[in-house]
Amino acid sequence: MNIEPAIAAFADDLTAWRRDIHAHPELGFEEERTAAIVAQRLREFGCEVATGIGKTGVVGTIRVGNNPRAIGLRADMDALPMDETNTFDHRSRHAGRMHACGHDGHTTMLLGAARYLAATRRFDGTVHFIFQPAEEGRGGAEAMVKDGLFQKFPCEAVFGMHNRPKLDVGKFALRAGPQMAGGGLFDVHITGKGAHGARPESGVDPVIVATQIVSALQTVISRSVAPLDSGVISVTQIHAGDAYNVIPEKAVLRGTIRAFRKETMALIKERIETISSGIARTLGARADADVRVVFPPLVNDPGEARYIADVAAGIVGEANVNREGPFVMASEDFSYMLEKVPGAFILIGNGGGEGGCEVHNPGYDFNDQATPLGATLWARLVETRLAKPAS
Ligand SMILES: [Zn+2]
Ligand SMILES: [Zn+2]
Repeated sequence: MNIEPAIAAFADDLTAWRRDIHAHPELGFEEERTAAIVAQRLREFGCEVATGIGKTGVVGTIRVGNNPRAIGLRADMDALPMDETNTFDHRSRHAGRMHACGHDGHTTMLLGAARYLAATRRFDGTVHFIFQPAEEGRGGAEAMVKDGLFQKFPCEAVFGMHNRPKLDVGKFALRAGPQMAGGGLFDVHITGKGAHGARPESGVDPVIVATQIVSALQTVISRSVAPLDSGVISVTQIHAGDAYNVIPEKAVLRGTIRAFRKETMALIKERIETISSGIARTLGARADADVRVVFPPLVNDPGEARYIADVAAGIVGEANVNREGPFVMASEDFSYMLEKVPGAFILIGNGGGEGGCEVHNPGYDFNDQATPLGATLWARLVETRLAKPAS
């Protein structure tokens, strides 16, 4: 492995920074401590620093020479609302908060790259280090974009990186085109007519309407989505009624949807709305479906995916870069940035092998052995993309 020696030389600092952030997890849009540490370090390195972008987001910038080209590198900073079961020294100091997705490691890898690039400045152009809040379902990427991220800090390309448990340290994976699913949530409110449980003919039973809708929704993926495309509709909640002998007036269905294409997300949304209201009307009830797309699908630009894969291969060797990486049904809100600016999202091995601890597990920890490698990937990406002209 071709780790940058100047980064390897401060690997112990990276481990200390990472463990400090791990011990002090903060939830989305509450990353005050983390953002303050990030901003302070970036200033110490000599970056220009902007804070408060998308509430708690931070952007550090290094400009070298007169080349107008600029790229963005993005890390996420937030933790999850859950208890940690680890017992090591750097375990969470806060009940109900944990860095169980490795965003402590992502933040540290990007800080490591900023420290190295600010000191060496072996490139020509501008790099923006984007530290994003609130990735875990709270809309941090969207908040930064809406706050003018790419107007204030224009980038020709933007890149993100996420750790992947069970992929060995020293390996990378990604794929061109759709890589991670878009996700959405839905509520269907059904209104019937309440009645005595023994006199169903005098009411309209919303429980029957709800179950018919759940059944009919099973046709969407199997009959409306093309067989070679993919998607998920999971009804995860049904709520109705309080008594054995009362037909309730209302029922509510809730659930989640996933798809790898924007068009498929739109199709699923339309089918849920049409099927719900149609079946309810047929049975004499009323259904109001509210389908909200929370994350668009994450789609890697083919050229930029090849670019970051080539840079990764230059560090770990082609055999350790899987360019046909897995489709992931989970969502990632970096997709909002990729909708505005072409770029790519790469997975870095977190190790652990078989039975290794998955992200969002209470026993998870980011692997400090991966940090210098991730920082090296960021550094090489900048140095090759914004290479100094041969003099
Ligand atoms: Zn996560
Ligand atoms: Zn994550």
